[in-house]
Amino acid sequence: MAHAAIGLYVHVPFCRGKCPYCDFYSLRGTDAQKDAYTERVCQILSTRDNPLSTVYLGGGTPSQLGTARLLRILEAVQGRLVHDAEITLEINPSDVPDLDCAALRRAGYNRVSLGLQSAVDTERRALGRRGNTADVARAVQTLQSAGFANISLDVMLAVPGQSADSLRTTLQFATHAGVQHVSAYLLKIEPGTPFAHRPLDLPDEDAAAELYIQACETLEKAGFAQYEISNFARPGFESQHNLKYWRSEEYWGVGPGAHSFLAGQRFFAPRDLAGFLAGDGTVPDGRGGDFAEYTMLALRLREGLRADAVQARFGHAIPAELRAKAAPLERHGLLICDENGMLLTRKGFLLSNAVIGALLA
Ligand code: SF4
Repeated sequence: MAHAAIGLYVHVPFCRGKCPYCDFYSLRGTDAQKDAYTERVCQILSTRDNPLSTVYLGGGTPSQLGTARLLRILEAVQGRLVHDAEITLEINPSDVPDLDCAALRRAGYNRVSLGLQSAVDTERRALGRRGNTADVARAVQTLQSAGFANISLDVMLAVPGQSADSLRTTLQFATHAGVQHVSAYLLKIEPGTPFAHRPLDLPDEDAAAELYIQACETLEKAGFAQYEISNFARPGFESQHNLKYWRSEEYWGVGPGAHSFLAGQRFFAPRDLAGFLAGDGTVPDGRGGDFAEYTMLALRLREGLRADAVQARFGHAIPAELRAKAAPLERHGLLICDENGMLLTRKGFLLSNAVIGALLA
């Protein structure tokens, strides 16, 4: 039986250093470990033959693998890519001079996600980022010259020392860099990270909310429509891969710490390079894609929970009980409901965890 096209996520667990706010699984890695990792990934990729409509190499820092290994991984799935597949590579701007960007583009990588985080160098340093804003500008130009016409910048909101003025500088950079997509995430202090244990000059909750609204409004004014709580794109440049997560479509995750959702089941690989190389199996994580989970993810999107999509997927309307729970939230300006479905307002996006929690309680 022919398989439906799915998304592929490859988690690359290597970073040159550790940013003090980050709780992703990553390690510095030797050349030998990177070679062994690449071979193991390619081996696993040969175990399924689903067509792939999106491929996303994330991390960690995929660009730390270097051009040859990145080409090898893409070569391993070349025969299974559907026409116009979106193939994204996360790149640290400081790695761009060491990469053969034209060769990566020729091989099929067609989207790049670059970590800007902030265009204010003191903020970048506080976040432990390598390089400066000029390096990011040069990286964007190099990628554009190599033929990349779909570039995303990551921006962080509510970082130590950030003000409305300094965020204006960052947004000015992002909206004038000639990129097609911006992700703007509020910094979250994760337990166990260095940021959780040091005094930080962080904006308070109200100031963080204002920074978020400032980012949404500035990006929209510059032609980047918000399509998810933290994601903005010029028309036609929404991340097809990430849309699969939010629309509860299937994806396959390969690499230590990568999660998968296939045939209704969720599972993940432990965050452990040695175990991954030794062929340790994946860990089951229960069934996925039920109505509650679908609703929780759909409400992250600007399109929200659509009645027609619910009907097509579950064979029923949006339950009256859910609409009843939505009514008070709508009165507080957090949600809009009509016969087409329900979606969060910008105020609702800011309080999304609480709003979605109240709806699904
Ligand atoms: S480069 Fe990215 S993945 Fe690596 S430590 Fe920094 S934030 Fe985490």
